[in-house]
Amino acid sequence: MSNYVVIGAGVIGITNAHEILKANPNNKVTIVAQHFPTDFEFKNIYTSPIAGANWESFAKLDDTFVQEIDTIGYRKFYDFIRNRPEAGVTKRLNSVLVTHEKFKLDGGVKKLPWFASGEFSKEIKFREYNDGEFDKEKFVYGFEFDGMVIRTTYYLSFLINECWRMSGAAEGENARFSIKRGTVSEVRDAFQLSSWNRKVDYVINCTGLLSRNLLDIDIKERDKMYPVRGCVYVVKNNVGIKKVTVVEIAEKDEGLYIMPRREGELIIGGCFQVGNEDKIVDDALSDRILSRCKQYLPQYNWDNLEIVRKQVGFRPFRKGGYRIEREGRIIHCYGMGGAGYQSSWGCAQRVQDLILCKSKL
Ligand SMILES: Cc1cc2nc3c(=O)[nH]c(=O)nc-3n(C[C@H](O)[C@H](O)[C@H](O)COP(=O)(O)OP(=O)(O)OC[C@H]3O[C@@H](n4cnc5c(N)ncnc54)[C@H](O)[C@@H]3O)c2cc1C
Repeated sequence: MSNYVVIGAGVIGITNAHEILKANPNNKVTIVAQHFPTDFEFKNIYTSPIAGANWESFAKLDDTFVQEIDTIGYRKFYDFIRNRPEAGVTKRLNSVLVTHEKFKLDGGVKKLPWFASGEFSKEIKFREYNDGEFDKEKFVYGFEFDGMVIRTTYYLSFLINECWRMSGAAEGENARFSIKRGTVSEVRDAFQLSSWNRKVDYVINCTGLLSRNLLDIDIKERDKMYPVRGCVYVVKNNVGIKKVTVVEIAEKDEGLYIMPRREGELIIGGCFQVGNEDKIVDDALSDRILSRCKQYLPQYNWDNLEIVRKQVGFRPFRKGGYRIEREGRIIHCYGMGGAGYQSSWGCAQRVQDLILCKSKL
């Protein structure tokens, strides 16, 4: 039996808590966090509820480490699609279209993702579009695969409820799971924050972008963290679009992606602004993103678009990639950038490997 404190209630922290509870029926976990998925307002940077979210691995062709992590996530989410409708994960075809301008920017080279070939490509039913399946005046090539949309706030609450289910009791000595609102200024503070009066064996640091504020993390390490801003529109799906649709364009820091949720909403997004921490959605950006819907996907009716909400989020990127690292009884797990959902299960598995000292990291 081990006693854990996880700092952070984003997708990374909650998934880690889940996997710790699952790993041993006697393990106990306290999550300590500034923000929780059920908060109505996020006064500070908290990324997980803002995301779309889908699975479309960004791993480079030679990055087998991230490819393996993302494969674990894909399989887990498909397990939810098949067996756990309450998880809020919905099967959707995922379509990607590449414009002439983007193709030119890529040096006239077709860039297919790592999951376009090999065994996994068959599992996810990857296929390139044939001529006649897309508008050749707008696009040079395109592909699709069996993807998904994760309704983030439902999904995070589902994961927390799974933790309570494994806990068996809501509080007290018999409980195995506990949540506390709190802010730590140093990771090591968390060793004093267990809900049970017993020694904490491990602290798992899942603080996302805010890890840059933790005083016992080396300043050079903290400086590696930077935000990549995203703006998302939640709109009513009176457009009729059924696939997750991604349009790759040449504009710096911008793009277009559309995710149809089960609940009759679309998520429309399209910016990747490095270092920008502005929390307000500016109208010029909204106009650009929404005008691209008409420009690239004119087969749908965009005239009666009803915007439910606009939201801004900050992807927690880290120079050098994910930090999944053990320092004695502290394990860091942050810096998943624009891939926190798709990587969450694989990252939590790597953390388990570190606890068992199995990992070569
Ligand atoms: C617009 C947008 C679209 C995205 N789309 C996708 C997508 O389609 N697929 C995908 O996989 N990913 C996507 N992402 C990325 C994904 O959302 C992030 O990678 C992920 O949410 C990061 O999760 P996290 O748990 O690391 O951080 P967060 O969600 O930010 O959680 C951090 C937690 O740590 C707590 N915390 C921080 N500091 C302290 C402290 N000192 N004391 C106590 N608590 C603290 C916070 O309160 C919070 O609970 C998207 C992101 C954005 C912004």
